[in-house]
Amino acid sequence: MEHPKKMEGEPFSLQATPGELPKSISGNIPDPEQDRKTYNLFILYQASRALSAVLEVEELLELSLDMTTEVMNTAWGLFYLMSEEQDALELRKSKGIDAKTIPSSLHLAEGMVDWAKGKMEPFSFDELIPEMPFSRSFPDLRNLTQANPYFLIPIFHQLRFIGLIVLGRRLDGGVFTENDLELLSTLVSLSANAIMNAHLYELAILDGTTKLFVVRYFRQRMREEIKRASRYTQPLTLLMLDLDLFKLVNDTYGHPSGDKVLADVGAIVRKCTREYVDIPCRYGGEEFAVLLPETDTEGGYHVAERIRKMIDKTRFLKENIRITISAGLASYPTDADTDEELVERADLALYEAKRLGRNRVVAHDQSAIHII
Ligand code: GH3
Ligand code: MG
Ligand code: MG
Repeated sequence: MEHPKKMEGEPFSLQATPGELPKSISGNIPDPEQDRKTYNLFILYQASRALSAVLEVEELLELSLDMTTEVMNTAWGLFYLMSEEQDALELRKSKGIDAKTIPSSLHLAEGMVDWAKGKMEPFSFDELIPEMPFSRSFPDLRNLTQANPYFLIPIFHQLRFIGLIVLGRRLDGGVFTENDLELLSTLVSLSANAIMNAHLYELAILDGTTKLFVVRYFRQRMREEIKRASRYTQPLTLLMLDLDLFKLVNDTYGHPSGDKVLADVGAIVRKCTREYVDIPCRYGGEEFAVLLPETDTEGGYHVAERIRKMIDKTRFLKENIRITISAGLASYPTDADTDEELVERADLALYEAKRLGRNRVVAHDQSAIHII
């Protein structure tokens, strides 16, 4: 399986204008229709190449908006995406306009989705104003009027309404042609495919509460990373972390509050580790694991301490409660030869950290570090 590592995708830019495109196959006889088709193909080819180099939803949203505003030559653009609850469109990206001046979400009143389905093509904002059903079912959109929007492009994926792109006026003052709209539709559906695929992939590999990787994905990555470490004779360290006396938090403040703490701890774990390099995971209920490639025991100990200290000094929930975490770590190849052994050794060290009184980090190879 490919890793969701950051790909260095080139920023999207049009490298040619229609006039610079290859001459039509008709040779000396100008053929505008052929040129138009060549131009469209050229744009769509560039767009699909750019989209396929990006694997993350956030980056795809940005790229899609960049492409749309550039190809359509508009002063600004907005990208609204359906909320998880499916009850509003949320502003996810803006370009060329101050995001503070526009609605951050567009509430979807009843009937809006049906209405959008009847409007699967891009359409101009002016078309909307007199349309009563629209005004009733999408009242927030009127708040956009101030920004003087020009075009709206509803985005569909497999006939499901998933978002809306809003574009400002064209920079050259021109109007959108039939060809522009045709190109725009295809461009946006390419983007929608890429965004939804990335979204589904993220849903499959990320835990919903903590936004850390799920165990199945983590174990797979761990096997791959051990192979890599062996090939390049590099060390690798595994941290196992477990919240201290967490049952008490649930018993005192309730399970939903416990979940909120877990989400905040997940964010701290992410903050303390290297994006795209380390692999943080929700290993179990209130247990976390982090795989640190190219990191030895000492390096791993520092990372674990950073996480432990940050959690210790953070106050959680509205009651400002203090939470602590214990950590155990083991390294490849010094403590273990296989992924199973690595987990077992890190677990043993974690158990030792609990036994010694919690809120501490213990390495399996205790001789290499100080235990505080
Ligand atoms: P220790 O310091 O020994 O780890 O104590 P503990 O209370 O954390 O350990 P124990 O394993 O006895 O309890 C773990 C608790 O974590 C049990 C459960 O209430 C809580 N927990 C596990 N998964 C979840 C979850 O998904 N959400 C919430 N809110 N709580 C969870
Ligand atoms: Mg615990
Ligand atoms: Mg536990």
